[in-house]
Amino acid sequence: CGVAGVYGDSEAANLVYLCLYALQHRGQEGAGIASSDGEKINYERGQGLVADIFSEERLSKLKGDMAVGHNRYSTAGENHIKNTQPIVADISKGSIALSHNGNIVNADEIKHELVQNGAIFTSTSDSEIIIHLLAKSKKDNLIDAIISSLLKLKGAYSLLLMTKGTMIGVRDPFGFRPLILGKIRTGHVLVSETCALDLIEAEFIREIEPGEMVIINDEGIRSIYPFEKEKPKPCIFEHIYFARPDSFLFGTDVYSVRKRMGQKLAEEAPVDADVVMPVPDSGVVATLGYSEASGIPYEHGLIRNHYVGRTFIEPAQSIRHFGVKIKLNAVKSIIKGKRVIVVDDSIVRGTTSRKIVKMLREAGALEVHFRISSPPTRFPCFYGIDTPTRKELIASTHTVEEIRKYITADSLAYLSREGMFECSRNGDFCDACFSGDYPTIYKFGDDSNPR
Ligand code: 5GP
Ligand code: SF4
Ligand code: MG
Repeated sequence: CGVAGVYGDSEAANLVYLCLYALQHRGQEGAGIASSDGEKINYERGQGLVADIFSEERLSKLKGDMAVGHNRYSTAGENHIKNTQPIVADISKGSIALSHNGNIVNADEIKHELVQNGAIFTSTSDSEIIIHLLAKSKKDNLIDAIISSLLKLKGAYSLLLMTKGTMIGVRDPFGFRPLILGKIRTGHVLVSETCALDLIEAEFIREIEPGEMVIINDEGIRSIYPFEKEKPKPCIFEHIYFARPDSFLFGTDVYSVRKRMGQKLAEEAPVDADVVMPVPDSGVVATLGYSEASGIPYEHGLIRNHYVGRTFIEPAQSIRHFGVKIKLNAVKSIIKGKRVIVVDDSIVRGTTSRKIVKMLREAGALEVHFRISSPPTRFPCFYGIDTPTRKELIASTHTVEEIRKYITADSLAYLSREGMFECSRNGDFCDACFSGDYPTIYKFGDDSNPR
Protein backbone atom coordinates (compact mmCIF):
# COMPACT_ATOMS: atom_id res chain seq x y z
CA CYS A 1 0.00 0.00 0.00
CA GLY A 2 0.91 3.64 -0.26
CA VAL A 3 0.28 6.30 2.38
CA ALA A 4 0.49 10.07 2.23
CA GLY A 5 -0.29 12.87 4.67
CA VAL A 6 0.02 16.64 4.56
CA TYR A 7 -0.11 18.87 7.64
CA GLY A 8 -0.33 22.65 7.57
CA ASP A 9 -1.18 23.55 3.98
CA SER A 10 -4.46 25.02 2.75
CA GLU A 11 -4.25 22.69 -0.28
CA ALA A 12 -3.73 19.59 1.90
CA ALA A 13 -6.23 17.27 0.19
CA ASN A 14 -5.09 18.27 -3.31
CA LEU A 15 -1.48 17.64 -2.36
CA VAL A 16 -2.33 14.24 -0.89
CA TYR A 17 -4.18 13.43 -4.11
CA LEU A 18 -1.02 14.17 -6.10
CA CYS A 19 1.07 12.09 -3.70
CA LEU A 20 -1.29 9.13 -4.09
CA TYR A 21 -1.00 9.52 -7.83
CA ALA A 22 2.80 9.21 -7.55
CA LEU A 23 2.37 6.19 -5.25
CA GLN A 24 -0.13 4.41 -7.50
CA HIS A 25 2.31 1.52 -8.08
CA ARG A 26 1.95 0.60 -4.38
CA GLY A 27 -1.73 -0.28 -4.77
CA GLN A 28 -4.39 -0.08 -7.43
CA GLU A 29 -7.44 -1.62 -5.81
CA GLY A 30 -8.78 1.45 -4.11
CA ALA A 31 -7.86 4.78 -2.64
CA GLY A 32 -9.14 7.40 -0.25
CA ILE A 33 -8.41 10.75 1.31
CA ALA A 34 -9.60 12.14 4.67
CA SER A 35 -9.15 15.80 5.58
CA SER A 36 -9.64 17.81 8.72
CA ASP A 37 -10.72 21.44 8.89
CA GLY A 38 -10.09 21.52 12.64
CA GLU A 39 -13.69 20.71 13.50
CA LYS A 40 -14.67 17.76 11.39
CA ILE A 41 -13.01 14.96 9.45
CA ASN A 42 -14.44 14.44 5.96
CA TYR A 43 -13.47 11.64 3.66
CA GLU A 44 -13.90 10.27 0.14
CA ARG A 45 -12.97 6.74 -0.86
CA GLY A 46 -13.45 4.49 -3.84
CA GLN A 47 -12.31 1.42 -5.71
CA GLY A 48 -9.85 1.53 -8.57
CA LEU A 49 -7.20 4.05 -9.56
CA VAL A 50 -6.65 7.41 -7.88
CA ALA A 51 -7.34 9.39 -11.05
CA ASP A 52 -10.65 7.58 -11.58
CA ILE A 53 -11.87 7.92 -8.00
CA PHE A 54 -11.33 11.62 -7.42
CA SER A 55 -13.11 14.32 -9.36
CA GLU A 56 -12.66 18.02 -8.73
CA GLU A 57 -15.99 17.94 -6.99
CA ARG A 58 -15.01 15.15 -4.61
CA LEU A 59 -11.70 16.82 -3.83
CA SER A 60 -13.38 20.15 -3.16
CA LYS A 61 -15.37 18.51 -0.35
CA LEU A 62 -12.13 17.73 1.45
CA LYS A 63 -11.54 21.04 3.16
CA GLY A 64 -8.95 21.87 5.76
CA ASP A 65 -5.21 22.23 6.06
CA MET A 66 -4.48 18.61 6.90
CA ALA A 67 -5.22 15.39 5.07
CA VAL A 68 -4.19 11.73 4.92
CA GLY A 69 -4.60 9.31 2.04
CA HIS A 70 -4.12 5.69 1.14
CA ASN A 71 -3.66 3.47 -1.92
CA ARG A 72 -4.89 -0.02 -1.29
CA TYR A 73 -3.35 -3.29 -2.41
CA SER A 74 -4.88 -6.17 -0.51
CA THR A 75 -2.62 -8.56 1.33
CA ALA A 76 -5.08 -9.28 4.16
CA GLY A 77 -8.80 -8.87 3.63
CA GLU A 78 -10.64 -8.86 0.32
CA ASN A 79 -10.77 -6.33 -2.49
CA HIS A 80 -13.94 -4.56 -1.42
CA ILE A 81 -14.98 -0.96 -0.89
CA LYS A 82 -15.43 -1.62 2.86
CA ASN A 83 -11.70 -2.34 3.08
CA THR A 84 -10.54 0.91 1.48
CA GLN A 85 -8.75 3.44 3.68
CA PRO A 86 -8.31 5.85 5.36
CA ILE A 87 -10.47 4.24 8.03
CA VAL A 88 -12.40 7.05 9.71
CA ALA A 89 -14.08 6.57 13.08
CA ASP A 90 -15.46 8.50 16.03
CA ILE A 91 -14.09 7.23 19.30
CA SER A 92 -14.23 8.67 22.81
CA LYS A 93 -10.95 10.47 22.17
CA GLY A 94 -12.44 12.21 19.12
CA SER A 95 -12.57 11.60 15.38
CA ILE A 96 -9.66 9.78 13.87
CA ALA A 97 -8.49 8.76 10.39
CA LEU A 98 -5.97 6.00 9.77
CA SER A 99 -3.88 4.91 6.76
CA HIS A 100 -1.85 1.74 7.11
CA ASN A 101 0.86 0.15 4.97
CA GLY A 102 1.98 -3.28 6.15
CA ASN A 103 0.43 -6.33 7.70
CA ILE A 104 -0.33 -7.09 11.33
CA VAL A 105 0.68 -10.72 11.83
CA ASN A 106 -1.24 -11.25 15.08
CA ALA A 107 -4.40 -9.55 13.75
CA ASP A 108 -6.53 -12.71 13.92
CA GLU A 109 -5.77 -13.28 17.58
CA ILE A 110 -6.43 -9.66 18.53
CA LYS A 111 -9.57 -9.54 16.46
CA HIS A 112 -10.91 -12.72 18.06
CA GLU A 113 -10.42 -11.24 21.51
CA LEU A 114 -12.00 -7.92 20.52
CA VAL A 115 -15.02 -9.65 18.99
CA GLN A 116 -15.43 -11.82 22.13
CA ASN A 117 -15.61 -8.55 24.04
CA GLY A 118 -18.33 -7.11 21.83
CA ALA A 119 -16.43 -5.23 19.10
CA ILE A 120 -18.23 -4.99 15.76
CA PHE A 121 -15.94 -4.99 12.73
CA THR A 122 -17.07 -3.28 9.55
CA SER A 123 -14.23 -4.53 7.33
CA THR A 124 -12.10 -7.63 6.88
CA SER A 125 -8.87 -5.63 6.83
CA ASP A 126 -6.25 -6.17 9.53
CA SER A 127 -5.90 -2.39 9.95
CA GLU A 128 -9.29 -1.98 11.60
CA ILE A 129 -8.07 -3.65 14.78
CA ILE A 130 -5.92 -0.59 15.46
CA ILE A 131 -9.02 1.61 15.62
CA HIS A 132 -10.73 -0.87 17.98
CA LEU A 133 -7.71 -1.04 20.26
CA LEU A 134 -7.65 2.76 20.35
CA ALA A 135 -11.34 2.98 21.07
CA LYS A 136 -11.03 0.52 23.95
CA SER A 137 -7.91 2.00 25.46
CA LYS A 138 -8.34 3.28 29.02
CA LYS A 139 -5.68 5.94 28.53
CA ASP A 140 -7.26 9.38 28.25
CA ASN A 141 -4.42 10.95 26.34
CA LEU A 142 -4.54 10.00 22.65
CA ILE A 143 -0.80 9.58 22.24
CA ASP A 144 -0.66 7.18 25.21
CA ALA A 145 -3.64 5.29 23.80
CA ILE A 146 -1.89 4.94 20.44
CA ILE A 147 1.28 3.69 22.09
CA SER A 148 -0.47 1.13 24.26
CA SER A 149 -2.46 -0.09 21.23
CA LEU A 150 0.59 -0.38 18.99
CA LEU A 151 2.49 -2.26 21.68
CA LYS A 152 -0.02 -5.11 21.23
CA LEU A 153 0.73 -5.43 17.51
CA LYS A 154 3.23 -7.69 15.84
CA GLY A 155 4.22 -7.21 12.25
CA ALA A 156 4.59 -4.38 9.81
CA TYR A 157 3.07 -0.93 9.99
CA SER A 158 3.98 2.35 8.49
CA LEU A 159 0.99 4.26 9.79
CA LEU A 160 -0.53 7.69 9.48
CA LEU A 161 -3.11 8.80 12.04
CA MET A 162 -4.98 12.07 11.88
CA THR A 163 -7.20 13.66 14.50
CA LYS A 164 -8.92 17.02 14.08
CA GLY A 165 -5.72 18.84 14.92
CA THR A 166 -2.80 16.42 14.97
CA MET A 167 -1.02 14.20 12.46
CA ILE A 168 0.98 11.22 13.63
CA GLY A 169 3.34 9.02 11.64
CA VAL A 170 4.69 5.74 13.04
CA ARG A 171 7.03 3.05 11.74
CA ASP A 172 7.04 -0.33 13.48
CA PRO A 173 10.21 -1.23 15.40
CA PHE A 174 11.56 -3.36 12.53
CA GLY A 175 10.79 -0.68 9.95
CA PHE A 176 9.60 -3.16 7.32
CA ARG A 177 7.88 -0.50 5.19
CA PRO A 178 9.28 2.93 4.38
CA LEU A 179 7.96 6.27 5.65
CA ILE A 180 9.46 9.57 4.61
CA LEU A 181 9.24 13.05 6.12
CA GLY A 182 9.24 16.11 3.91
CA LYS A 183 8.56 19.82 4.08
CA ILE A 184 6.28 21.86 1.87
CA ARG A 185 5.81 25.62 2.10
CA THR A 186 4.24 26.08 5.54
CA GLY A 187 3.66 22.42 6.24
CA HIS A 188 4.96 18.90 6.60
CA VAL A 189 4.47 15.82 4.47
CA LEU A 190 4.65 12.11 5.35
CA VAL A 191 4.76 9.68 2.41
CA SER A 192 5.70 6.09 1.59
CA GLU A 193 8.27 7.09 -1.03
CA THR A 194 10.24 10.16 -2.06
CA CYS A 195 8.81 10.07 -5.60
CA ALA A 196 5.65 11.57 -4.04
CA LEU A 197 7.69 14.43 -2.52
CA ASP A 198 9.21 15.12 -5.92
CA LEU A 199 5.83 15.44 -7.59
CA ILE A 200 4.58 18.10 -5.17
CA GLU A 201 8.00 19.77 -5.02
CA ALA A 202 8.31 19.10 -1.31
CA GLU A 203 11.72 19.00 0.25
CA PHE A 204 13.03 15.67 1.54
CA ILE A 205 13.88 16.00 5.22
CA ARG A 206 14.61 12.43 6.32
CA GLU A 207 13.22 8.93 6.73
CA ILE A 208 11.16 8.20 9.82
CA GLU A 209 13.25 5.70 11.76
CA PRO A 210 12.13 2.20 12.68
CA GLY A 211 10.28 2.48 16.00
CA GLU A 212 9.86 6.24 15.68
CA MET A 213 6.60 8.09 16.16
CA VAL A 214 6.41 11.68 14.89
CA ILE A 215 3.72 13.98 16.18
CA ILE A 216 2.88 17.08 14.20
CA ASN A 217 0.51 19.72 15.56
CA ASP A 218 0.35 23.47 16.18
CA GLU A 219 3.14 23.15 18.72
CA GLY A 220 5.46 21.91 15.98
CA ILE A 221 6.94 18.54 15.25
CA ARG A 222 8.38 16.12 17.80
CA SER A 223 9.50 12.49 17.89
CA ILE A 224 9.20 9.77 20.48
CA TYR A 225 10.51 6.21 20.48
CA PRO A 226 7.95 4.26 22.48
CA PHE A 227 8.93 0.71 21.54
CA GLU A 228 11.55 -1.71 22.71
CA LYS A 229 14.44 -1.36 20.31
CA GLU A 230 14.78 -4.01 17.60
CA LYS A 231 17.42 -4.53 14.99
CA PRO A 232 15.89 -2.79 11.92
CA LYS A 233 14.64 -5.14 9.19
CA PRO A 234 13.52 -3.03 6.24
CA CYS A 235 12.07 -5.04 3.36
CA ILE A 236 14.72 -5.83 0.75
CA PHE A 237 11.94 -6.52 -1.74
CA GLU A 238 11.14 -2.78 -1.80
CA HIS A 239 14.52 -2.37 -3.49
CA ILE A 240 14.12 -5.39 -5.74
CA TYR A 241 10.63 -4.74 -6.98
CA PHE A 242 8.06 -2.80 -5.03
CA ALA A 243 9.33 0.78 -4.76
CA ARG A 244 9.68 3.10 -7.73
CA PRO A 245 13.26 3.29 -9.01
CA ASP A 246 13.26 7.09 -8.71
CA SER A 247 12.68 6.84 -4.95
CA PHE A 248 15.24 6.99 -2.17
CA LEU A 249 14.59 4.65 0.74
CA PHE A 250 16.34 2.76 3.52
CA GLY A 251 19.30 5.07 3.14
CA THR A 252 19.95 4.54 -0.54
CA ASP A 253 18.37 5.06 -3.93
CA VAL A 254 16.37 2.25 -5.44
CA TYR A 255 17.69 2.72 -8.97
CA SER A 256 21.33 2.15 -8.02
CA VAL A 257 20.54 -0.92 -5.92
CA ARG A 258 18.47 -2.44 -8.71
CA LYS A 259 21.12 -1.71 -11.30
CA ARG A 260 23.88 -3.20 -9.17
CA MET A 261 21.75 -6.32 -8.77
CA GLY A 262 21.72 -6.66 -12.55
CA GLN A 263 25.48 -6.12 -12.76
CA LYS A 264 26.08 -8.68 -10.04
CA LEU A 265 23.78 -11.14 -11.77
CA ALA A 266 25.82 -10.78 -14.97
CA GLU A 267 29.00 -11.52 -12.99
CA GLU A 268 27.49 -14.49 -11.19
CA ALA A 269 25.56 -15.98 -14.10
CA PRO A 270 27.08 -15.01 -17.44
CA VAL A 271 25.87 -16.55 -20.69
CA ASP A 272 26.81 -16.07 -24.32
CA ALA A 273 23.95 -14.29 -26.08
CA ASP A 274 23.14 -11.70 -28.74
CA VAL A 275 20.78 -9.54 -26.79
CA VAL A 276 19.53 -8.93 -23.23
CA MET A 277 16.03 -7.67 -22.57
CA PRO A 278 13.85 -6.94 -19.52
CA VAL A 279 10.46 -8.21 -18.60
CA PRO A 280 8.94 -4.73 -18.45
CA ASP A 281 8.68 -2.81 -16.24
CA SER A 282 9.95 -4.69 -13.20
CA GLY A 283 13.10 -6.02 -14.91
CA VAL A 284 14.20 -2.82 -16.69
CA VAL A 285 16.77 -1.34 -14.31
CA ALA A 286 18.41 -4.69 -13.49
CA THR A 287 18.68 -5.39 -17.23
CA LEU A 288 20.57 -2.12 -17.74
CA GLY A 289 23.04 -3.37 -15.13
CA TYR A 290 23.25 -6.79 -16.76
CA SER A 291 23.89 -5.26 -20.17
CA GLU A 292 26.50 -2.84 -18.86
CA ALA A 293 28.43 -5.53 -16.98
CA SER A 294 28.26 -8.16 -19.74
CA GLY A 295 28.63 -5.91 -22.78
CA ILE A 296 25.60 -7.60 -24.36
CA PRO A 297 23.34 -5.10 -26.15
CA TYR A 298 20.15 -4.03 -24.37
CA GLU A 299 16.93 -4.17 -26.36
CA HIS A 300 13.24 -3.82 -25.64
CA GLY A 301 12.12 -7.13 -27.08
CA LEU A 302 9.00 -7.30 -24.98
CA ILE A 303 6.54 -4.44 -25.09
CA ARG A 304 4.09 -3.89 -22.32
CA ASN A 305 0.60 -2.55 -22.68
CA HIS A 306 0.66 0.16 -20.03
CA TYR A 307 -3.07 0.30 -19.63
CA VAL A 308 -3.26 -3.07 -17.90
CA GLY A 309 -2.60 -3.16 -14.15
CA ARG A 310 0.20 -5.25 -12.70
CA THR A 311 -1.12 -8.80 -13.03
CA PHE A 312 -0.12 -9.72 -9.51
CA ILE A 313 -2.43 -7.10 -8.06
CA GLU A 314 -5.49 -8.96 -9.34
CA PRO A 315 -6.36 -11.40 -6.60
CA ALA A 316 -8.09 -14.02 -8.81
CA GLN A 317 -5.99 -16.77 -10.36
CA SER A 318 -8.06 -16.70 -13.58
CA ILE A 319 -7.20 -13.03 -14.13
CA ARG A 320 -3.53 -13.63 -13.44
CA HIS A 321 -3.25 -16.24 -16.21
CA PHE A 322 -5.18 -14.09 -18.61
CA GLY A 323 -3.17 -10.99 -17.64
CA VAL A 324 0.21 -12.03 -18.98
CA LYS A 325 -1.13 -12.24 -22.51
CA ILE A 326 -2.92 -8.95 -22.50
CA LYS A 327 0.08 -7.31 -20.95
CA LEU A 328 3.09 -8.30 -23.06
CA ASN A 329 3.97 -8.78 -26.71
CA ALA A 330 7.25 -9.71 -28.41
CA VAL A 331 9.06 -7.52 -30.97
CA LYS A 332 9.78 -10.10 -33.67
CA SER A 333 12.42 -8.10 -35.55
CA ILE A 334 14.54 -7.93 -32.37
CA ILE A 335 14.13 -11.56 -31.42
CA LYS A 336 14.12 -13.59 -34.62
CA GLY A 337 17.27 -15.66 -35.02
CA LYS A 338 18.82 -14.37 -31.75
CA ARG A 339 20.10 -15.91 -28.56
CA VAL A 340 18.12 -13.98 -25.97
CA ILE A 341 18.62 -13.26 -22.25
CA VAL A 342 15.50 -12.17 -20.38
CA VAL A 343 15.84 -10.50 -16.98
CA ASP A 344 13.05 -10.23 -14.41
CA ASP A 345 13.03 -9.29 -10.73
CA SER A 346 11.39 -12.47 -9.44
CA ILE A 347 9.53 -15.64 -10.27
CA VAL A 348 6.48 -16.23 -8.13
CA ARG A 349 4.34 -18.99 -9.59
CA GLY A 350 6.35 -19.26 -12.76
CA THR A 351 3.38 -18.69 -15.04
CA THR A 352 4.64 -15.35 -16.39
CA SER A 353 8.10 -16.65 -17.20
CA ARG A 354 6.73 -19.76 -18.88
CA LYS A 355 4.49 -17.70 -21.14
CA ILE A 356 7.31 -15.32 -21.97
CA VAL A 357 9.64 -18.13 -23.03
CA LYS A 358 6.91 -19.56 -25.24
CA MET A 359 6.22 -16.11 -26.74
CA LEU A 360 9.91 -15.54 -27.48
CA ARG A 361 10.33 -18.94 -29.15
CA GLU A 362 7.27 -18.27 -31.28
CA ALA A 363 8.90 -14.96 -32.25
CA GLY A 364 11.92 -16.91 -33.53
CA ALA A 365 14.42 -16.84 -30.63
CA LEU A 366 17.19 -19.42 -31.04
CA GLU A 367 17.83 -19.67 -27.30
CA VAL A 368 16.09 -18.16 -24.26
CA HIS A 369 18.08 -17.68 -21.06
CA PHE A 370 16.20 -16.47 -17.98
CA ARG A 371 17.97 -14.42 -15.30
CA ILE A 372 16.36 -13.31 -12.03
CA SER A 373 17.74 -10.31 -10.11
CA SER A 374 16.90 -11.77 -6.69
CA PRO A 375 17.20 -15.21 -5.03
CA PRO A 376 14.42 -17.82 -5.43
CA THR A 377 11.19 -16.67 -3.70
CA ARG A 378 10.59 -19.67 -1.46
CA PHE A 379 8.53 -18.27 1.42
CA PRO A 380 5.44 -16.07 1.66
CA CYS A 381 5.60 -12.51 2.93
CA PHE A 382 3.52 -11.63 5.98
CA TYR A 383 4.58 -8.02 6.09
CA GLY A 384 2.60 -6.32 3.36
CA ILE A 385 3.70 -7.80 0.04
CA ASP A 386 1.16 -10.02 -1.66
CA THR A 387 2.69 -13.45 -2.17
CA PRO A 388 0.75 -16.67 -2.46
CA THR A 389 0.98 -19.51 0.06
CA ARG A 390 4.12 -21.59 0.25
CA LYS A 391 2.89 -24.41 -1.89
CA GLU A 392 1.99 -22.02 -4.72
CA LEU A 393 5.49 -20.51 -4.79
CA ILE A 394 7.25 -22.56 -7.42
CA ALA A 395 10.69 -22.19 -5.81
CA SER A 396 9.48 -23.60 -2.49
CA THR A 397 8.74 -26.96 -4.06
CA HIS A 398 11.09 -27.02 -7.07
CA THR A 399 14.83 -26.80 -7.60
CA VAL A 400 16.23 -24.21 -10.00
CA GLU A 401 16.69 -26.94 -12.61
CA GLU A 402 13.07 -28.07 -12.18
CA ILE A 403 11.89 -24.47 -12.56
CA ARG A 404 14.01 -24.13 -15.70
CA LYS A 405 12.28 -27.18 -17.14
CA TYR A 406 8.85 -25.85 -16.16
CA ILE A 407 9.40 -22.49 -17.80
CA THR A 408 11.09 -24.28 -20.74
CA ALA A 409 14.12 -21.93 -20.78
CA ASP A 410 17.55 -23.01 -22.09
CA SER A 411 19.08 -21.82 -18.84
CA LEU A 412 17.91 -20.19 -15.63
CA ALA A 413 19.90 -18.46 -12.88
CA TYR A 414 19.06 -16.34 -9.84
CA LEU A 415 21.11 -13.72 -8.00
CA SER A 416 22.71 -15.23 -4.88
CA ARG A 417 21.68 -14.08 -1.41
CA GLU A 418 25.22 -12.79 -0.76
CA GLY A 419 25.14 -10.93 -4.07
CA MET A 420 21.80 -9.36 -3.18
CA PHE A 421 23.08 -8.06 0.16
CA GLU A 422 26.27 -6.79 -1.41
CA CYS A 423 24.21 -4.71 -3.85
CA SER A 424 21.99 -3.18 -1.19
CA ARG A 425 24.94 -1.99 0.92
CA ASN A 426 22.93 -1.14 3.97
CA GLY A 427 23.42 -3.75 6.63
CA ASP A 428 20.41 -5.57 7.82
CA PHE A 429 17.27 -6.27 5.84
CA CYS A 430 14.31 -8.59 6.09
CA ASP A 431 14.76 -11.20 3.38
CA ALA A 432 12.35 -13.78 4.79
CA CYS A 433 10.69 -14.48 1.43
CA PHE A 434 14.07 -15.84 0.27
CA SER A 435 15.49 -17.25 3.51
CA GLY A 436 12.47 -18.09 5.67
CA ASP A 437 14.13 -16.10 8.43
CA TYR A 438 11.11 -14.13 9.68
CA PRO A 439 11.88 -11.33 12.14
CA THR A 440 8.56 -11.83 14.01
CA ILE A 441 6.17 -14.63 14.76
CA TYR A 442 3.53 -15.19 12.16
CA LYS A 443 0.42 -17.24 11.77
CA PHE A 444 -1.69 -17.07 8.62
CA GLY A 445 -3.88 -19.91 7.42
CA ASP A 446 -1.75 -22.96 6.75
CA ASP A 447 1.50 -21.05 6.99
CA SER A 448 2.52 -20.54 10.56
CA ASN A 449 5.64 -20.11 12.58
CA PRO A 450 4.88 -19.89 16.28
CA ARG A 451 8.41 -18.77 17.05
P1 5GP B 1 4.77 -15.37 -11.78
O1 5GP B 1 4.16 -15.55 -13.10
O2 5GP B 1 6.06 -16.04 -11.60
O3 5GP B 1 3.77 -15.76 -10.70
O4 5GP B 1 4.99 -13.81 -11.57
C1 5GP B 1 6.23 -13.22 -11.71
C2 5GP B 1 6.04 -11.75 -11.97
O5 5GP B 1 5.31 -11.18 -10.88
C3 5GP B 1 7.34 -11.01 -12.06
O6 5GP B 1 7.37 -10.29 -13.28
C4 5GP B 1 7.32 -10.04 -10.90
O7 5GP B 1 7.68 -8.75 -11.31
C5 5GP B 1 5.89 -10.00 -10.44
N1 5GP B 1 5.87 -9.85 -8.97
C6 5GP B 1 6.74 -9.18 -8.28
N2 5GP B 1 6.46 -9.16 -7.00
C7 5GP B 1 5.42 -9.87 -6.81
C8 5GP B 1 4.73 -10.22 -5.64
O8 5GP B 1 4.98 -9.82 -4.54
N3 5GP B 1 3.75 -11.05 -5.78
C9 5GP B 1 3.42 -11.51 -6.98
N4 5GP B 1 2.42 -12.36 -7.04
N5 5GP B 1 4.03 -11.15 -8.13
C10 5GP B 1 5.04 -10.34 -8.05
FE1 SF4 C 1 10.00 -7.91 2.23
FE2 SF4 C 1 10.25 -10.49 1.72
FE3 SF4 C 1 10.52 -9.55 4.23
FE4 SF4 C 1 8.15 -9.53 3.01
S1 SF4 C 1 9.33 -11.34 3.59
S2 SF4 C 1 9.06 -7.90 4.23
S3 SF4 C 1 8.71 -9.11 0.88
S4 SF4 C 1 11.83 -9.14 2.43
MG1 MG D 1 7.11 -8.11 -13.41
